[in-house]
Amino acid sequence: MATCPECDATLDLEPEDVDVEDRLSCDDCGASLKVISTAPLEVEIDDEDEEDDDLDDDDDGEDEDEDVDDDEESELEEEE
Ligand SMILES: [Zn+2]
Repeated sequence: MATCPECDATLDLEPEDVDVEDRLSCDDCGASLKVISTAPLEVEIDDEDEEDDDLDDDDDGEDEDEDVDDDEESELEEEE
């Protein structure tokens, strides 16, 4: 069982549920934490990036507007 390095709160994490370099935040103090070891389970303060709630893997917006199949809308042909 790991504890928050910031506030010493017990983190309810299972080693099977996390990987090294996984990021999480402390429920107690909200500190950004990073898993540095899973055996034993250890975390450290992660202050590299300050993203709070957007921890999605792909925030690059790679093919967001490339092949969107908006068939319903494209049925309306634009003719003059
Ligand atoms: Zn904490």
